[in-house]
Amino acid sequence: MTKITVAKGDGIGPEIMAATLAIIKAAGAKIEIEEIEVGEKVYLAGNTSGIAKESWDIIRRNKVFLKAPITTPQGGGYKSLNVTTRKFLGLYANVRPCVSLHPFVKTKHPQMDLVIIRENEEDLYAGIEHQQTDEVVQCLKLISRPGCEKIVRYAFEYAKQYGRKKVTCFTKDNIMKQTDGLFHQVFDEIGVEYPEIEKEHWIIDIGAAKMADTPEAFDVIVMPNLYGDVLSDVAAQIAGSVGLAGSANIGEECAMFEAIHGSAPRRAGQNMANPSGLLQGAILMLNHLGQTEVAENVQNAWLKTIEAGIHTYDIFKEGVSQVKVGTQEFAQAVIANLSKKPSTLKAVSYAKGAALKLPKYKRKPAAKKDLVGVDLFVHWSGTNPDELAANVKALGNSEVQLTMITNRGIKVWPEGFRETFCTDHWRCRFKPVENNTMSKQEIIRLLNKAIENKIDTIKTENLYAFNDKPAYSLGQGQ
Ligand code: NAD
Repeated sequence: MTKITVAKGDGIGPEIMAATLAIIKAAGAKIEIEEIEVGEKVYLAGNTSGIAKESWDIIRRNKVFLKAPITTPQGGGYKSLNVTTRKFLGLYANVRPCVSLHPFVKTKHPQMDLVIIRENEEDLYAGIEHQQTDEVVQCLKLISRPGCEKIVRYAFEYAKQYGRKKVTCFTKDNIMKQTDGLFHQVFDEIGVEYPEIEKEHWIIDIGAAKMADTPEAFDVIVMPNLYGDVLSDVAAQIAGSVGLAGSANIGEECAMFEAIHGSAPRRAGQNMANPSGLLQGAILMLNHLGQTEVAENVQNAWLKTIEAGIHTYDIFKEGVSQVKVGTQEFAQAVIANLSKKPSTLKAVSYAKGAALKLPKYKRKPAAKKDLVGVDLFVHWSGTNPDELAANVKALGNSEVQLTMITNRGIKVWPEGFRETFCTDHWRCRFKPVENNTMSKQEIIRLLNKAIENKIDTIKTENLYAFNDKPAYSLGQGQ
């Protein structure tokens, strides 16, 4: 028996959770349930995180959490429980299998069978945002080496364990050479350790287009957080329906399993909802717990039920479906099909399931790090970059000099284009004149001088070289 934490959630949550638990218990899942309350009631009782402190203790103790969808009340101040849970518990990998059930569930992609592995903790989702000038706001995109190594290794280990042939990486490293560049570089480095698995990298735009058009060309796809957020919903939808997909959120210690859809409040309490998404989450959980025979039995019974045309309203289609059933009847049909295998759809085998055991991240030795310049960001509402350059140049001295000004990344001085549209947010790059390196005192001196000269600096960004390699982007057009 493994003790797991269960939250029944809001809206259709309690009904689909009851159906899911009934099915997996009938299949012999060795689980003991400890229930917690999360979501709407907790939010409305004044807890803006949607979960009580004691519930965290239970989740952390049991380590495995099966969660039904919850309703986040409208209006400001309520924090997304999903995001908080992922970050607090370090659930770095989001795993979402997307398989089409052709011809029983309508899809344009009968051969589709892919798994999206999305980095779940960093990227733009660190949520570090600032308004800096009247016209410009920013969001910091943070990508870390441990973050990349963990998710990329997870993707390869997943592929290995489930007998998948290929891992594809999606990034936009032609533009974001540092952040997405690191993700791609780590993919190449770690890929070498898996010679038996085919590897490829796609630029995200054309990769996403290819995935939406020809998903059968992909097997496992790994990507940073934001791209994964968008594309995992696209993949689930084109496979047949977001209502049919489950996902796993995996950390080094804890894991959370769920459906990907929401609480569908309009369908609540009517015995209408499709429990398949949450059931898919529960199957991922059973594999994670090592109860692979139970997981396999449930999945094959579910496939058998779908191909028998026993469908809830959301996937019911005249001519394809046989019987329209409610949540409970659907669950009963799956239970009746336990130990049976589908005949048209491909039966699954989870002989090699179980939680992946990944090595802990080991910090690399520190590189040689030299300060080789500084970007001073300036709030200035003029329009002629030459005028700004004349003012800002005066901050330089015999040690450091202004070398470039950009506006939203594009070089506007020296030799900018009159046509380039400029906002009030300017990046002024200072570099040492003779030596390759400079001291931090120089930055303080520049800032003090800017105050004296009434130049409104809003932030600085240090330019570093790591092991003598410049580690910052050039100005576009530089
Ligand atoms: P939703 O996924 O709840 O519903 C979208 C549409 O799909 C609706 O028409 C709904 O009836 C249908 N649908 C969804 N799941 C279904 C199922 N299992 N069976 C049959 N039909 C189903 O999305 P929404 O309406 O945008 O959001 C409703 C609430 O859910 C919001 O409060 C939102 O914040 C929350 N939400 C929660 C989660 C989560 O807890 N993981 C995820 C997404 C949305």
